Amino acid sequence: MSALDLRRFHNMLFGAEPAISFVEIRHTRQGRGMGQVFLGVREVEQWARTVEKLTGTGDVYVGVGPRTQRAGTRESVARLHVLWADIDTDDAVAALRTFEPAPPVVIRSGTPGHLQAYWPLRDAVGPDQAEIGNRRIAHAIGADMKSTDAARILRPPGTFNRKREIPQPVRAARLDAEVFDYEDIVGTLADPPARAQDRPRVELPRERVADDSPGAQDAAVALIGRYSPEADLRPSGNGRLHGSCPFEFHEDRNPSFGLFPDGGYICSCGTGDIVRLFVNLRGEQFTDRDLPRYRRELREDLGLAVAA
Ligand SMILES: [Zn+2]
Repeated sequence: MSALDLRRFHNMLFGAEPAISFVEIRHTRQGRGMGQVFLGVREVEQWARTVEKLTGTGDVYVGVGPRTQRAGTRESVARLHVLWADIDTDDAVAALRTFEPAPPVVIRSGTPGHLQAYWPLRDAVGPDQAEIGNRRIAHAIGADMKSTDAARILRPPGTFNRKREIPQPVRAARLDAEVFDYEDIVGTLADPPARAQDRPRVELPRERVADDSPGAQDAAVALIGRYSPEADLRPSGNGRLHGSCPFEFHEDRNPSFGLFPDGGYICSCGTGDIVRLFVNLRGEQFTDRDLPRYRRELREDLGLAVAA
């Protein structure tokens, strides 16, 4: 049953995608951060086998959007074949029940009360339009606003959620083949208030980071506040701040995230400098190749001085 669900899930996300595209699988590797696998969009059997193998040892996620290159970045997402909502409260579950049209695909993500709902599209939409649609749905039913981005990775059915001591199965509660026109799903819904990134820019210190200037940690805190407004870091000695992990992929029940004076971090999910912090906050997969771009964005978009 799970193998069949996996293939139907693949078909929903990628069935209408041109054969030259890629699909992304991201997975946790015990104590070694995240791994990433790219496969051709038509390699369905290989994809299903890879997901089944990886779920034996870790958490497995798939990029909802097909990738035009072997990268997990938003730039590599040209179109999406579904809209979706990531639902993690009882109120949102109740709101989903009365939402019209009802989502033909609902996945139980393995955390009690958490659901992922999908609305397959008759015609694919670009990443901007997909995000507008996802945000309207999230706003309408109270789903997670952070899970609306075009580069999002979510758990496929037939895998195990290993956030808790006893792994919980990720199951399809419903997996029907219905498709919708974009307008029929979100055409009458209101847009939510402007997203965090669109709000007036936080003034960040201009000091060069990666030395021990106090500005680097302030900059990192501002960065975390922008992407994860609920983060609550407190001083814990030696100039460190401590609190729950701000990364979307890490459900950090016993706060294990530490932020150093230089803006670097350490957590049970991994360690990194301020550039990796930035990349993880955005839910992207860090690649050396993209390092100049990350640094440029930290410098230009965020007004943060980083060595080029
Ligand atoms: Zn973490």
